[in-house]
Amino acid sequence: MGERLEELRRQFGVVADLEAAGGVLGWDQQTYMPPGGAQGRAMQLATLGRLAHQQLVSDKMGAALVAAESEVEGLDPDSDEIRTVRKARRDFDKARKVPSEWVAEFRRVTALAHHVWEKARAESDFSQFQAPLGEIVKLRRDYADFFAPFDHVYDPLLDDFEPGMKTTEVKAVFGELRPEQISLVQEIVERGTPVDDAVVHQQFDEQKQWNLGMEVVKALGYDLERGRQDKSVHPFTSGFGTGDVRITTRFDQGFLNTALFGTMHEAGHAMYEQGVNPEFDRTPLGITASLAVHESQSRMWENFVGRSRAFWVGFYRRLQEVFPGQLGSVNLETFYRAINKVQPSLIRVEADEATYNLHIMLRFELEIELMEGNLEVSDLPEAWNSRFQEFLGMVPPDDAKGVLQDIHWSAGMFGYFPTYALGNLIAAQLWAKIKQDIPDLDRKIENAQFGDLLGWLRENVHRHGSKFEPVELLATVTGSGLTAKPYLRYLREKFGDIYGL
Ligand code: ZN
Repeated sequence: MGERLEELRRQFGVVADLEAAGGVLGWDQQTYMPPGGAQGRAMQLATLGRLAHQQLVSDKMGAALVAAESEVEGLDPDSDEIRTVRKARRDFDKARKVPSEWVAEFRRVTALAHHVWEKARAESDFSQFQAPLGEIVKLRRDYADFFAPFDHVYDPLLDDFEPGMKTTEVKAVFGELRPEQISLVQEIVERGTPVDDAVVHQQFDEQKQWNLGMEVVKALGYDLERGRQDKSVHPFTSGFGTGDVRITTRFDQGFLNTALFGTMHEAGHAMYEQGVNPEFDRTPLGITASLAVHESQSRMWENFVGRSRAFWVGFYRRLQEVFPGQLGSVNLETFYRAINKVQPSLIRVEADEATYNLHIMLRFELEIELMEGNLEVSDLPEAWNSRFQEFLGMVPPDDAKGVLQDIHWSAGMFGYFPTYALGNLIAAQLWAKIKQDIPDLDRKIENAQFGDLLGWLRENVHRHGSKFEPVELLATVTGSGLTAKPYLRYLREKFGDIYGL
């Protein structure tokens, strides 16, 4: 590697270190920090955010970038060198458009809003959260304006999570997806063989759930030498380089699915980050390709693997051993159907595969209206409830189970939600290719052998970090761009079988 590229990497290493330090504080805030730490933590995060941003947009960085660009000229366009410089240029140009004061203010407001949201959610009272959310929406609109001109005010927000993706493309893919998913759900509800899921709604000891979840994710391939699990209100994964990628889980003693599948989901995220080429640590390529690709990994392990018949052929006896009183006399097929029950429900993170994307499309539409200025924050709960009725045929009984359920808006993460649904689509596209490349995949899963699958993902997706943009990565691996068809096919096949359609 040339001297100038080395210098660019050194400069970027400082940004990555500051961001990782902020990440650890953010992780702590959601796991162990006492409530009294909120004010101080907000200041600490604001300071680190400002320093990282200042370092990223500094003239020194700009000069290092120009020097590195001329040094790598003529190299293979797919080389790590060229890609590192190109990604650095993209990050630099984007960050240069955003004033450091905005970044500090955004971090401060969202750190405080997190605690207001937690309390508002606990007391199911949206009015407490209305003012901070209003501030956040305004800050997010200001942010979009830094990138004017744009086709849509939502484009700059989306681009932060899904590099290169445009609002109109998401609208088009969702437009194809939505009528098909709604009609599938209707068919299931109207003429499917009913599924009884009482067996997963019994009392399950929390410590036993914890131990079982850890046993499962270790078997899948989550490396605990470079990871750990803790509890939090909202499950998440947080990585600080490939050597330390942590997950959190929440438990419901009355519902087995929450922690069991939540843990597999987060482990799917964590294995992705653990699988990035370690040489990319502290460089512009050391993050993942996008949130949709991230979510494709978590949803794949949670659903394509964790909710498959093959997985439970291998694991069900072990589960019965852990919960003999609850599941000892329940047969595998009853359990398999129970964990795949389709039923319109209130909470996104607990939604089944057939209804999940509807939760996302609802949020996507509300975000767009908020950003366009066509919806006031004060009208949000009502807009949420009426759209929920339209999409899922029910109205939340309170704000905690409605508009306040997700952490994202309190963290200012507008533009994030659509990536969940896109992740499902990408998971299905990758899965179709994996089944071609590993023809006896089901047999391997039945035997709790996940090494080939993880190896395939490492080789084709994980190790690249953010070297390729998501659509480019997808095209290289699957030979096709983003499409809803494999996912719709997967849903039809799986739920057609379960519900006898
Ligand atoms: Zn996720």
